[in-house]
Amino acid sequence: MKEHRIIRIRGIVQGVGFRPHVFRLAHAHGLAGSVHNDTEGVLMHLEGDAGTIDQLVTSLQNDPPPLADIQSVTSSTHPPRGLTKFSIEQSTSSSTRSAFIPPDAAVCDACMEEFFNPEDRRHQYPFITCTHCGPRFSIIYDIPYDRPGTSMKDFPMCPRCEKEYRDPRDRRFHTQPNACPVCGPHVFLADRNGTPVTEDIDETIQHTLRLLKEGHVVAIKGVGGFHLAADATKDRPVELLRQRKGRPFKPFALMTGSIETTDKLTHVTPAERELLLRRERPIVLLKDRGEGHLSPLVSPGITWTGIMLPYTPFQHLLFAKDPNLVLVMTSGNVTDEPIIYRNEDALKRLSSFADYFVMYNREITAHSDDSVMYVVDEQPFFIRRSRGFVPAPFLTEHSHSQILATGGDLKNSFALAKDNYIILSQYLGDLETPWGNQLYRSAINHFKKIFDFRPGTVVSDLHPGYYTTMFADELSQQGLTHIKVQHHHAHIAANLEEHNVDQPVIGIAYDGTGYGTDGTLWGSEFLIADKKNFTRAAHFENFPLPGGESAIRDVWKIGLSLLRSALGDDRDIYTSMEQRNMVLEILEHNINSPLTCSIGRIFDGVSSILGIRHHVTAEAEAAQLLEEAAHKGSGTMGENTLIPVSDENDTMIINTSELIRMVHDLHQNGHSITDTALFFHQCIAATTVHVANLLREKYNINTVTLSGGVFHNRLLLSLISSGLRKKAFDILMPRKIPFNDGCMAVGQIAIARELLP
Ligand code: ZN
Ligand code: ZN
Ligand code: FE
Repeated sequence: MKEHRIIRIRGIVQGVGFRPHVFRLAHAHGLAGSVHNDTEGVLMHLEGDAGTIDQLVTSLQNDPPPLADIQSVTSSTHPPRGLTKFSIEQSTSSSTRSAFIPPDAAVCDACMEEFFNPEDRRHQYPFITCTHCGPRFSIIYDIPYDRPGTSMKDFPMCPRCEKEYRDPRDRRFHTQPNACPVCGPHVFLADRNGTPVTEDIDETIQHTLRLLKEGHVVAIKGVGGFHLAADATKDRPVELLRQRKGRPFKPFALMTGSIETTDKLTHVTPAERELLLRRERPIVLLKDRGEGHLSPLVSPGITWTGIMLPYTPFQHLLFAKDPNLVLVMTSGNVTDEPIIYRNEDALKRLSSFADYFVMYNREITAHSDDSVMYVVDEQPFFIRRSRGFVPAPFLTEHSHSQILATGGDLKNSFALAKDNYIILSQYLGDLETPWGNQLYRSAINHFKKIFDFRPGTVVSDLHPGYYTTMFADELSQQGLTHIKVQHHHAHIAANLEEHNVDQPVIGIAYDGTGYGTDGTLWGSEFLIADKKNFTRAAHFENFPLPGGESAIRDVWKIGLSLLRSALGDDRDIYTSMEQRNMVLEILEHNINSPLTCSIGRIFDGVSSILGIRHHVTAEAEAAQLLEEAAHKGSGTMGENTLIPVSDENDTMIINTSELIRMVHDLHQNGHSITDTALFFHQCIAATTVHVANLLREKYNINTVTLSGGVFHNRLLLSLISSGLRKKAFDILMPRKIPFNDGCMAVGQIAIARELLP
């Protein structure tokens, strides 16, 4: 039976080779009709036998072009119009705007084959790409997504490239970054003054390898910005990089040439292997084999190493020339600031870190750091969702007025909501420096442009001191409606939004700190929450944070405060009497000692109480080392030990002092640091499940959501999630967004949408 079917496809379907893919399928199936892009996605007309049309649609859905993400397919059937051929039509109007912009993808196998083929015209050409791979988000500066709207506009195509670009049968049809050595960008090596050393690709590779082997630090421009590269197998270069960056502890990410090399250094589970090979090429945290192939300075004291595989042609070439190479590939930035991505900025801001620079003459229009993921119980989670994933949209069942969510000040990502989707920005780091603030503003402006976004509402955190809150205040003075959202409510709402849950849940948010509605610093929250409202149902008992948030670096002050609250003043503590007395004085007179119940801070303090770390140089350093210790501990005592819970004005209070007393006594009574650390983890996990159980009975709710950066502690996550599972709770965990504050903007959007009239 012949028919004419009009099919609408929504999702990431533009700029990913969708139309030529349909064109080839239509030819293979002998169907007539047409395909074109419009503002909503792709519209197809198919004419022919109904069963054959069904076949085509099925194969399109089962096997779409690699970078496509089909979100919905709808169709209507009409009488045949007597069509005889199939064609790709021009976009319907010049104002056509691609709703979605594809994320950057690793170079594909087909391109790599040409790249390594000496006969190919793109042999060793570092900008080789096709419809199925390469840069996208990072080269777009304006819509519509077409070559003139990308940083390829400065590179007019040569006739051979042009021919590929125009031919629907070619695998480079409408590949916006299509280029070759004749017409495209090129790589060059420069010294730290920016003076070019060579522009030849072979020489650049040889020099770079030699410089790395000699122990130099080389800045290499990648997809989303610069990496600082150093030989990870030797102490000296890694130490040099640590000194120059002023970064004594925080583990460095590595790049290896293959799964095989990675497997020699670390244990790789099937789920981890899958993540490593994804075209998003995230950094994956892997367990060290500890066999001495790596400098111990790569991740001092930590048995997990972040590793990624090559994703640019240049990286592939470097590792092809030396398959045993293992490189530190850390973001080229000043600690906790966003990655540097412009040649001029790199020479200015990275010249004290790097000896040489591998650069290229194409602009990165939107920076993005490498994404970071980890696997617990063979399930993948995000620590950082950035390059490769951004700006893929989250489609929602709700439609939005246009909302900007400013996120939080640490590990910032902002989000925008429009129509029926939410787009979460790349990772923007901590907004604590003028440079960070400037990049934040320019990233928001960039998103406004590329998503044709004009918000009427801005939503921020409650924290009056946050840059993101002040920025929202500024926008509200320009006439936007400003909604403020409690930090942990946003954490939980982000989860509810991701899993599309509307009814109330028991939301557990364990994190560093977030501003509470009572002006104290929250951070161990059990909220009975839906997307609109929340009740604070339980939390750990408050304790004073001497010196306020500055105590975060001197974690011994937190340890001292916890011991003082639990046991009185006269305890030995690991610093000079003078310093100790000063802090006790501050606590005694309640000077700049805000109350907090943050579980992140409890981890910090206990790390110091056990003598693991008293001062930190990176966020969560003390807590990470406490977790490391616990992994090495043994015993099950904590599994059956509950921290006492009391009831105050209908809120359950978990007795922090009792926990500290137990930990202190175990340690004093000769239990090892590792066993005590394990006890501490087990006891918190058991109590968490116990409190969830009490709340289930009280509120008759069976669903628990977990959020907050403390769940990046894989031991705690594993203990709590398995404990909850044993008690038959339904558990919601963030799978597409991080546990930490990188998720907050999504929650802010969900809450604002509910609160708007
Ligand atoms: Zn390709
Ligand atoms: Zn060309
Ligand atoms: Fe948080």
